[in-house]
Amino acid sequence: MTTNTDHSGKVALVTGGNRGIGLETARQLAEIGFTVLIGVRDLAKGETVARTLGSAVEAIELDVAASEAADRAAAEVGSRFGRLDVLVNNAAIHYDPSAQALRPDWTVIREAFETNVFGAWRVAAALAPLLGASGHGRLVNVSSEGGSLASMGAGAPAYSTSKATLNALTRILAAELRGAGVLVNAICPGWVATDMGGPGGRPVAQGAAGIVWAATLPDDGPTGGFFRDGKRLAW
Ligand code: NAP
Repeated sequence: MTTNTDHSGKVALVTGGNRGIGLETARQLAEIGFTVLIGVRDLAKGETVARTLGSAVEAIELDVAASEAADRAAAEVGSRFGRLDVLVNNAAIHYDPSAQALRPDWTVIREAFETNVFGAWRVAAALAPLLGASGHGRLVNVSSEGGSLASMGAGAPAYSTSKATLNALTRILAAELRGAGVLVNAICPGWVATDMGGPGGRPVAQGAAGIVWAATLPDDGPTGGFFRDGKRLAW
């Protein structure tokens, strides 16, 4: 897995960028030259976190589950930068490994879809014109092998079906954005030791590296794919 290393002057937005894999992705993108906006629900806390990563990282208010927030963020990015080079749809909730589909908790299922699917969808739709304006836009949907139909079985019904739907959306967005030069891929970070992943997973740096790989693909790189560590996964 190689990462193109000169990205000075480029702008990236990472949703759910205030902790976990999103925060580490922001750190790695800033390290290779990007100006990074971390999308956060709590702007004051986000600004405090952004300051720890240096002057290339700023917070922007973006609750992906709120209907108008993506349009407001797009307007802000558009007026400040006129384009967006990388969008990382990272924000997600409700990993529910011990739940059963036949005992559905509709609140959890609906909330999972509202953030993991509709959130990523509305952010992608709002920011797509700015990704197109980049000329070399990259859209990374942070997914999970839990969303792979090829290996899907019992467990995590809300989370797994939401990630499978995100994978489907990835294919459709890749097709719709192909003509605009935007590469769209779904990335599984692996099992990572975060608040969501819990103890025992691999370090966030390893999980984020595969996301940064997809964010920095060359123009002839893949689109509409599903990867972990730069290697294809079965849908
Ligand atoms: P995490 O530690 O639970 O962090 C989740 C992040 O998403 C937080 O920054 C959270 O912000 C944000 N978020 C949640 N709802 C949001 C909303 N409505 N609007 C904006 N931000 C919101 O999770 P993680 O482990 O870093 O996971 C990051 C991504 O990797 C997710 O897409 C996850 O599904 C995927 N993934 C993780 C693992 C793993 O083992 N960790 C494995 C496979 C895939 P707040 O601080 O405001 O809550």
